[in-house]
Amino acid sequence: MDGRQRFGDRDGLDGRHVPVAVVGGGQAGLSMSYHLQRRGIDHVVIEAKTAGHDWTDRRWDSFCLVTPNWQCRLPGHPYAGDDPDGFMPRDEIAAYLAAYVNSYQFPLFEQVTVTRLHRDRAGRFHLGSTAGDLTADQVVVATGPYQVPRTPRLAERLPEDVTQLHSAAYRSPGGLPEGAVLVVGTGQSGCQVAEDLHLAGRQVHLAVGGATRVARRYRGRDVVAWLEQTGYYQRAITEFPEADWPRLHRANQYVTGRDGGHDIDLRAFATEGMRLYGRLTDATTSGLLTFGDDLTQNLDIADAASEGVKNSIDAYIEAAGLDAPAEARYVPVWAPGPGHPVKLDLAAHGITAVIWATGFGADHRWIEVPVFDGRGYPTHRRGVTSCPGLYFLGLPWQHTWGSGRLGGVAQDAEYLTGKITGYARPNEVSWIAGTPMSTFPEPERDEDWTAPRTVA
Ligand SMILES: Cc1cc2nc3c(=O)[nH]c(=O)nc-3n(C[C@H](O)[C@H](O)[C@H](O)COP(=O)(O)OP(=O)(O)OC[C@H]3O[C@@H](n4cnc5c(N)ncnc54)[C@H](O)[C@@H]3O)c2cc1C
Repeated sequence: MDGRQRFGDRDGLDGRHVPVAVVGGGQAGLSMSYHLQRRGIDHVVIEAKTAGHDWTDRRWDSFCLVTPNWQCRLPGHPYAGDDPDGFMPRDEIAAYLAAYVNSYQFPLFEQVTVTRLHRDRAGRFHLGSTAGDLTADQVVVATGPYQVPRTPRLAERLPEDVTQLHSAAYRSPGGLPEGAVLVVGTGQSGCQVAEDLHLAGRQVHLAVGGATRVARRYRGRDVVAWLEQTGYYQRAITEFPEADWPRLHRANQYVTGRDGGHDIDLRAFATEGMRLYGRLTDATTSGLLTFGDDLTQNLDIADAASEGVKNSIDAYIEAAGLDAPAEARYVPVWAPGPGHPVKLDLAAHGITAVIWATGFGADHRWIEVPVFDGRGYPTHRRGVTSCPGLYFLGLPWQHTWGSGRLGGVAQDAEYLTGKITGYARPNEVSWIAGTPMSTFPEPERDEDWTAPRTVA
């Protein structure tokens, strides 16, 4: 990010002790710093690259926010532009974050990676970093929900002359070799990348998973505006039955903010020539791919979810006695017929590139504190772990829908600040005997894809 003031100095970390260390300088870490600063709590924010870099480094050129601009409400930094109902393009989002950094003297140390975190018997945290070692009374891990691009090992079997990249590395159609493209995965990234290529005139083949979708607008307003008004975004995950938690964590419904915002209807793409398949299940080294027989089901599930959201909006409008224009419901414009292909020969279809829109994983191996569940997910209650003084911020559905987004991270940061302020270091015995935390399901992945069966 250009033009920003830098307040951190790598040399100032080694050997230092701080009351609070925040690891990660994205929107979550910066929001945390804002609240700590307001309470006068001495702290540092340690960022491996540059603050907010994820928005520029890992989004394609035509990327726009999916959430409306008015939901950019980082603490002390609400959206102040003239298009609150619009959807900022990538570079404006980066500028919004850069302006945040420039507005507040965050104690930010950039280009410093925390490589190790452990806690001694006295309850003090030790952080090893690429700029030396420091200690802290409390630590907030704000290293992001979408850390490590995940590509299935199936990718190793594809022919060498096929270009492969993860959606995090995709920039534009022009960056790919000439020819048709296979996109695997239909979460937010997969659908938007497929649309980007489709609009550029590329022949797109798309492996459709079980991700659901949501309409952009309904009955005169953006659906996000309706859901805000209904109070959905204020609902804590604990208000939902535990059986729903996995669904909530997966529910990153596809829609786009591109060109002012519109639905993403994969059936409509199919009528325009995009080739749809079910989930990718298998591949041979000669480039023959196999898909599941679940395309019909996956499209139906996506539409049903979208219509379900409309049902909830209808119910709200009726209960509140609002005067909102009626709107006809969605009618599917295409469906796969009998014998729809479940095989695809990459060479025969001129496919020169495969984009793995198969999501992200977390990498918390550097945290040597036993707060993780069997799948490596940090157990916590609203970001507070069972280890006194150790917190997470920015996890999807950490508390509400917006926890991992620009719209809801502020209230989580404020909540944690209250916990940090009231912290008194307990002795080791009390922690070992401490209350077990809730185990949430595996975190949201942004994408939808299922691991392939064994390959031939
Ligand atoms: C394709 C896509 C589209 C999205 N669209 C929207 C949207 O429209 N609206 C919305 O509100 N949200 C959206 N999000 C979700 C979310 O807002 C972003 O993922 C956002 O970047 C999360 O901010 P964060 O601060 O939690 O994590 P990040 O931005 O990932 O920041 C974490 C930081 O931690 C640093 N870090 C990691 N490990 C270490 C370490 N060991 N030491 C030091 N630093 C470290 C990283 O370098 C990084 O800068 C989208 C996400 C994706 C992937």
